[in-house]
Amino acid sequence: MTVKPKILIIEDEPNIASFMSTILASNSFTVLRASNGAGGLMLASSHCPDVILLDLGLPDMDGKEVIRGIRQWSQIPIIVVSARSQEYDKVEALDLGADDYVTKPFGTSELLARVRTALRHARSVTIDATVAQTGRFTAGELTVDFDKRRAYIRGEDAHLTQNEFRIVALLARHAGRVLTYDMLLRTVWGPNGSSDNQILRVNMANIRRKIEANPGEPKYIFTEMGVGYRMVEGD
Ligand code: CA
Repeated sequence: MTVKPKILIIEDEPNIASFMSTILASNSFTVLRASNGAGGLMLASSHCPDVILLDLGLPDMDGKEVIRGIRQWSQIPIIVVSARSQEYDKVEALDLGADDYVTKPFGTSELLARVRTALRHARSVTIDATVAQTGRFTAGELTVDFDKRRAYIRGEDAHLTQNEFRIVALLARHAGRVLTYDMLLRTVWGPNGSSDNQILRVNMANIRRKIEANPGEPKYIFTEMGVGYRMVEGD
């Protein structure tokens, strides 16, 4: 199962939104679109995209408000896409937590390069040096391939669903550390997602069935009772 990175485009100009959408979709990205800030914030929290492309001049609010809103709960990479050439806007957007910017008009290769850099950056911030270098996390017979967005057990695709992969990848990036239920729920399902640990438990039961030889005695992902989960340290 291939899990495509999800890109959210928040842009009110239909031509530019379509241009970006076409480029991304034809380069194996899943695209979500919003034409105003409120819609963008809603999609960001309900879909937890991997990268957000954000226009600063939106009809209902300043794009900077969108950055503020998203940064309250997530470090999803945000690339500002703006016609504004003033340094001030860009700096302010970056200060607010945007990761990068492209200035309109821009070309296909420039857009793709920025998106790929943002994806790579999001990975390397938290993974240790080896993982950052290889794009993989390995522990025993488990391999998590961040580029292919797949997990393998004894070399076989574990066939994780999108959310299952996100959980495993997140734990692998923080291998050896406990991630709280709340952190996992917020990152995978968004701030308005369920705060009920049950959904997480169900996903974890499925993950364990797919990657653990004996799900009752896990070797890879441990339960920290009442707190969260922890991935075993990598090799
Ligand atoms: Ca605009």
